[in-house]
Amino acid sequence: MKKTTLILLLLLPVIMIAQSGNALLEQTIGKQKANIEALYLKLHASPELSTMEANTAAYLKQSLREMGFSIVDSLGYYSFAAILQNGKGPVVLYRTDMDGLPVKEQTGLPFASQVMMQKGSENVPVMHACGHDIHMSSWLTTARIMVDLKKQWSGTLVLLAQSAEETGQGAKKAVASAAFSRLPQPDIQLAMHDHAELPAGVAGFCDEYALAAVDMMNITIRGKGGHGAVPQQSIDPVVLASQYVLAIQSIVSRNLSPNDPAVITVGAINGGTAGNIIPDQVVLKLTIRSYSAASRQLILDRLKTIGDNLAIAAGLDKDHLPVFDLLDMTIPSVYNDPKLGARLREVLNRSIGSSAVATVKPVMIGEDFGVYGQQATHIPSYLMWIGTVAPARKALAEQGKAELYTLHSSRFAPDYALAIPGAVRIMTTCLLDILARK
Ligand SMILES: [Zn+2]
Ligand SMILES: [Zn+2]
Repeated sequence: MKKTTLILLLLLPVIMIAQSGNALLEQTIGKQKANIEALYLKLHASPELSTMEANTAAYLKQSLREMGFSIVDSLGYYSFAAILQNGKGPVVLYRTDMDGLPVKEQTGLPFASQVMMQKGSENVPVMHACGHDIHMSSWLTTARIMVDLKKQWSGTLVLLAQSAEETGQGAKKAVASAAFSRLPQPDIQLAMHDHAELPAGVAGFCDEYALAAVDMMNITIRGKGGHGAVPQQSIDPVVLASQYVLAIQSIVSRNLSPNDPAVITVGAINGGTAGNIIPDQVVLKLTIRSYSAASRQLILDRLKTIGDNLAIAAGLDKDHLPVFDLLDMTIPSVYNDPKLGARLREVLNRSIGSSAVATVKPVMIGEDFGVYGQQATHIPSYLMWIGTVAPARKALAEQGKAELYTLHSSRFAPDYALAIPGAVRIMTTCLLDILARK
């Protein structure tokens, strides 16, 4: 007998177990087909805005209670956790978000959202334009399958449903809540986000910094108003603001390493009323994106130094320096633990195949999942991207015959019938490996 044949024979039972495990998983996912469809259509047609996800949370909670999960409430807004203790072993936290966006859906789909909600004094249309309905459908279906396959794993599953991801409030509120500190302490934290271009059934990996830290800042550039025809008696905040907007372009290009991406965008300049009046002030609205805490701090410091010194150079005294107002919307970057990434990739490669694994570049978009990784105990965390595009649509897009609309677009329409089972297969495979019976 050849040596390779002998090795194959010795490995046969292992391969057979792996395959029979796969077959069982496939069968279990297959049984959920009708449920997945109904679940997605229901969630998609009834989106709720950030901090207002009352009905969504109630529905998810009820379903999980029926499956035997115990519910922990009071994690801020409508966030809650569902816990399944299934013997000794690791604790895994798997988080979904629940909120929709103030977007009028224009997909033309028969199940398109018609929902309107009151936001402040306005009545706004609401849509799951970021695909958080895909996240919830995959999350709840994964829960159901983990219950069905209870005999295959041992440990504790903490499913976290989070409010207000889009506004950057939810994760911070959850982590700060008293109830959160009483949850079983996770060994590993996972999340998924749908990807508008990846094929359905594919997990996108991006080790280390994957999504950016987000800061929003308003800066009031002050001056000394007066007549537009007598500039020598004024200090013109319009000129000062113009200088400032150009000067801060050098922060990313000259102060940060070319290998350390960051973005500073001035998205709004508001000041003045008429052509012949020099106003007293101009307000700038910025978004700042960065990866490391050090880069973020450097950007914030430079914004202030440049602003203060340009104001002094313009002749303003210390009482009229710019006012820097960092809004309470800051979220940290998402840092994907590379060791955990290597392990999950390996599991997916082995159990599903290399076609289920892709590498995705980091983006400057924000996601507040990073908050969970920033706890004092620093728990290995990973946010996987999840494909949403059916092969046929992908092929058309590659030929320029179809457009793949981005996340947050009013036309974003994931191929849910393939995307959700794909996401469930990926997440369940990862969970069954992490929680494998020893
Ligand atoms: Zn979003
Ligand atoms: Zn999102």
